Amino acid sequence: MKNQELLQRSLKAVWHPCTQMKAHETLPLVPIARGEGVWLYDFEGHRFLDAISSWWVNLFGHANPRINAALRDQLERLEHVMLAGFTHEPVVELSEKLSALTDKGKSRLGHCFYASDGASATEIALKMSQHYWRNCGSPAKNRYVSLAGSYHGETVGALAVTDVALFRDAYAPLLRPGITVPSPDWRLAAPGESPAAYATRCAKALEETLAPQHAEIAALIVEPLVQCAAGMAMHDPEYLRQARTLCDRYQVHLIADEIAVGCGRTGSFFACQQADILPDFLCLSKGISGGYLPLSVVMTTDEVYQAFYADEVTRAFLHSHSYTGNPLACRAALATLAIFEEDDVLAANRRRAAFLNQRAVVLATHSCVRNFRNQGMIWAFDVDSDDPLLPRRAFAAALERGLLLRPIGNTVYFMPPYVIGEEDMDFLVGQTLAVLEEVLAV
Ligand SMILES: *Cc1c(COP(=O)(O)O)cnc(C)c1O
Repeated sequence: MKNQELLQRSLKAVWHPCTQMKAHETLPLVPIARGEGVWLYDFEGHRFLDAISSWWVNLFGHANPRINAALRDQLERLEHVMLAGFTHEPVVELSEKLSALTDKGKSRLGHCFYASDGASATEIALKMSQHYWRNCGSPAKNRYVSLAGSYHGETVGALAVTDVALFRDAYAPLLRPGITVPSPDWRLAAPGESPAAYATRCAKALEETLAPQHAEIAALIVEPLVQCAAGMAMHDPEYLRQARTLCDRYQVHLIADEIAVGCGRTGSFFACQQADILPDFLCLSKGISGGYLPLSVVMTTDEVYQAFYADEVTRAFLHSHSYTGNPLACRAALATLAIFEEDDVLAANRRRAAFLNQRAVVLATHSCVRNFRNQGMIWAFDVDSDDPLLPRRAFAAALERGLLLRPIGNTVYFMPPYVIGEEDMDFLVGQTLAVLEEVLAV
């Protein structure tokens, strides 16, 4: 009863994101009363395994006792103060800790600029890059290069470097044209071509773009290792190594959008570490607060920071959001980083991934499954089917079986919280197989 009542009220009063609201005439909303660990519960005792970490944000489960305790403590001290002209312990400590994590001996990303959402982090990185070149006397460097299938958020600036027609087309008149280069997604490799060889071929295409146009290009923006919104498109780290070299050669900034892939998701804390490179800008959001509160960070180098450090106010980065560096969100992030340290999370995730890979052989070898792939705590496979309703039917069938899946096109993926246990991984694979059989049977 409570379920039904709440979803009726929601449909009247709430405009839900990324949704054709009319679709809810046939596909019910899912009311959630509470969460615990990897499980979400409705008001009537049904539960759903959150196999996509609530849109890729949750790391250590819902209602995590350690993050809850940190937030309760912070709540008693300071809920918020503006960050212009003021500072506080959580934001200082978080900036120091994040910078230390980027340390590569001679270089590090020593300066953290804050916002609330991923898209704002993208906007900040784009603006900072262009403003850097302006401050350095190269105002013509103001265009951006992004990969085919890229996703960097949906505000107007971020959408201009996002290559998803469904999100872009309606707003095309608002968007400043960017430059798109081929994606190193290894599914696009020629027969017999290795992911690394294909990455090298795509890096050549990147050079063919940068060489003639670099005088007007500010930055290349990439999602390192996994283009999640493109359907968990994965590439070899060789692409990132070569992109770093090319960006140096042509004086173009490298922006790593680690909003989805940062915080251990790909197996290392930052995805860029697997290519042993540092970007000029690194964007974090989603998992950084453990999936608790909106928080995003753009990290950058001393060199960029110094280009803004001057007597003239117009050389400064005059960008702000009201909740920039919110103490509660920073405190949730500190509690999240503490769990990484205390529990040796990256090593534990390697064991989790090995277990899930072994159990998922039934999916990987299914006759209708193509391109089964895994990177850290991300799994994905493509389903052979011409049914345009497949994603929606799979979503509904999974819910019936106590599983929250949200396929992207024909790609089914898992991005579970880092606290998923063996029993729950068995449930995940078993129910996914059942969902697959069910949606393919029609
Ligand atoms: C989710 C996402 C964004 C946008 O973040 P929001 O918080 O949704 O604005 C940007 N880039 C990538 C790679 C993302 O996955």
